Amino acid sequence: MTNPFDLSGKTALVTGANTGLGQGMAVSLAEAGADIVAIGRSSAADTAKAVAATGRKFFEVKGDLSDKDGLEDLFKKAVAQTGAVDILVNNAGIIKRNDAIDFTAEDWDSVMDVNIRATFFLCQYFARHVTSDNRQGKIINIASMLSYQGGIRVASYTASKSGVMGLTRLLANEWANKGINTNAIAPGYFATNNTAALQADEKRNTEILGRIPAGRWGNPTDLGGAAVFLASSASDYVQGITLPVDGGWLAR
Ligand code: NAP
Repeated sequence: MTNPFDLSGKTALVTGANTGLGQGMAVSLAEAGADIVAIGRSSAADTAKAVAATGRKFFEVKGDLSDKDGLEDLFKKAVAQTGAVDILVNNAGIIKRNDAIDFTAEDWDSVMDVNIRATFFLCQYFARHVTSDNRQGKIINIASMLSYQGGIRVASYTASKSGVMGLTRLLANEWANKGINTNAIAPGYFATNNTAALQADEKRNTEILGRIPAGRWGNPTDLGGAAVFLASSASDYVQGITLPVDGGWLAR
């Protein structure tokens, strides 16, 4: 039997792959056989090294995903470098914290621009790209526990990540019959730059750890299995789901 998780011959575009969860997923996808093209604003040299160690190719496109006029160009550059892209991982994301009563328009717009606007339009460019030559496509959007829960002091983040879950369903409805699988992963609490403030706050850190059934923060490698599954033919009949990888957080 062929391995349904094998990604040999595929190319995965991962946004924000220089660090954190994006780096973890890029390396896992490469270990499963995919070449990687990263779009991001910081150097992805560490990820390049880790992907090279798997024997897969690594390409990099430098750019800011919040640059509305430049977004399509970034996608085109990724395709030009690799020839074709089969898997899209919309991972890049930011968070701003403030009481809702004081939340600024800037903290609203900056988060929405990266977390939901860039996610949607990269999905659109990707769908046009794979359908133009009748190839199969796999989209993995990165959601959050705050796709399911309200959170606190993170108004734009909660709105954007709740939007990611809804958008994932909508795109599955429109594109499932076009050979594209659109799904999402909702990471629980992972130790990355994104959660540095929470990890550093002793009280919040203790509260969070006490609520996670697994009793630990997630490591970026913990997302690898879910990413490979949703990128591979093992998930060909899976559409529109948001898969929690959360050490049991949502089970509480
Ligand atoms: P991270 O370590 O802060 O990484 C975020 C990535 O997004 C970085 O590569 C960052 O690039 C990139 N990025 C942000 N804004 C960008 C922009 N305008 N243009 C290009 N790249 C941009 O955070 P992470 O924890 O790995 O988060 C990855 C994703 O998982 C995010 O969508 C986040 O919301 C989600 N998530 C994380 C957790 C968690 O517990 N860590 C939980 C649920 C969901 P720079 O390095 O240049 O800033």
